[in-house]
Amino acid sequence: MADAMSRQRLTPTADSALRSEEHAACSADPTRMYVLQALQILDTEPEDRFDAITRMAAAQLQADVASIDFVDATRVWSKSVWNARPREFPRTESFAEWIVETGQMLVVRDMQAAGRQRGLYRPDMVARVRFFAGVPIRCSNGTVLGALCVAGYEPRAQMQPEELLALENLASLVTDQLELRHLRQRQGSAAEPNRVAQPERAAETDSGPVESPAEEAAWPTVEELEYALERDQFVLHYQPEVEIATGRIVGLEALIRWRHPRRGMLAPQSFIPQAEDNGMILPIGDWGLAHACRQLQAWKRDRPWLEPLRVCVNLSARQFTRTGLADQIQSLLMTTGLRGHHLGLEMTESTLIPSISSTLGVLNSLQRLGVSLHMDDFGTGYSSLSHLHRFPFDVLKVDRSFVKRMTMGAQPLQIVKTILELARVLGMDVVAEGIETEEQRAMLEKLGCRYGQGYLFAKPLDADAMGILLASPETRIGFGREAAVPREVAS
Ligand code: C2E
Ligand code: MG
Ligand code: MG
Repeated sequence: MADAMSRQRLTPTADSALRSEEHAACSADPTRMYVLQALQILDTEPEDRFDAITRMAAAQLQADVASIDFVDATRVWSKSVWNARPREFPRTESFAEWIVETGQMLVVRDMQAAGRQRGLYRPDMVARVRFFAGVPIRCSNGTVLGALCVAGYEPRAQMQPEELLALENLASLVTDQLELRHLRQRQGSAAEPNRVAQPERAAETDSGPVESPAEEAAWPTVEELEYALERDQFVLHYQPEVEIATGRIVGLEALIRWRHPRRGMLAPQSFIPQAEDNGMILPIGDWGLAHACRQLQAWKRDRPWLEPLRVCVNLSARQFTRTGLADQIQSLLMTTGLRGHHLGLEMTESTLIPSISSTLGVLNSLQRLGVSLHMDDFGTGYSSLSHLHRFPFDVLKVDRSFVKRMTMGAQPLQIVKTILELARVLGMDVVAEGIETEEQRAMLEKLGCRYGQGYLFAKPLDADAMGILLASPETRIGFGREAAVPREVAS
């Protein structure tokens, strides 16, 4: 924190920014130009991973607008803009340019008071923006490439050191994303989608949405999600996590779907991000947690062999940041009669980032309940390694993009080996996600990866189908040698 305070003291005032001679020079650092071109980041479509960062920046600093802006010789390119329109504009002595030229953070608490003639956030925002804060975005060799900026329509009386620190942390997440992008490009897989496949998505398009493009972008609204919740339109499907060597089921991941009366069965990616944005993720998440626990308890009743089975639920950032999460989980366990070890909570790094300072406390109190903590989609996130070292996760779930590439060459295979070694050193269990082929399964087993999940073993099943699978005498739960998930479930 002392660090942040001293940084804040060093923060240039708006006046110094506006008077800066360097700013007028408008220089084009050749290293910056080279890196920006190599990354192919300038004139490209928005990407979820960057949008998630601007969204978090806006939420954490309670800003009206946020953007990730890269600056080349003549233009400012916004890779991601939250709550504002343009994606690129000619260099105009904007604040992003100043940050890039000087490599310093900039805070302007009240643009009007500072005099706005020579500096601005972005040309389209001249009239509205009163408050601005921005920090440099660097690539891994330290070259400043752009700025992470937030702005508000009201002036600010003061800026907390924690807020500036949060902004810097988020800028370092952009750095990590750029590094990952570079790695992916080197592996020739830049086109790899950043989220999991959505098998059920076809149903959505087949049923023919009737909304206009503008309505479609805003879909679903709070009212539609509330209505869906009231009408019981959400359902959970369950996918087994198995012991790779034997196929025995050790856990079930609960995966939400929306049984939409007109659009068909919708995958989470088509409504969970919107629910996260508009806050409906809280009641939907509460429903999911409670429903998964009740369902597991119903399956366990009269089936003592299911005792070791646990159900894993995905938590979103908003659920994680809400005060009293551990109390909520504790009372859920009490009302459903489950024990802590029957529940796993899956979090991605983006779940943890918005509340990074309180993360350790929350995770510790969940751990005290005996609940197992799973780091989901490992490798796709931000500064993955630093988080793993700091937080008490029990299970690391290797993202399926690594499993997919692992049989394609020595380098991707080495990445999986490194992740497995890291987990071993940290004493964590590993679940490899997205195992689709016997070749992948055998290779993972040989590498010492103990657990896995994927279509090879079983697709996500509805509760009835899962109930039948769990009741089958062929299905083994827990740990052992015999084969477990009947093969027909996978097809
Ligand atoms: P996730 O937690 O990483 O879940 C695994 C995803 O991989 C699931 O997609 C699953 O169907 C898919 N998958 C499993 N095995 C394979 C395979 O072998 N190949 C391929 N291509 N895909 C496989 P799904 O159900 O579409 O879920 C997507 C994401 O949505 C989840 O990723 C999770 O982040 C989120 N999600 C799902 N349910 C919930 C929920 O209740 N709450 C929240 N907050 N997020 C949820
Ligand atoms: Mg998950
Ligand atoms: Mg995952």
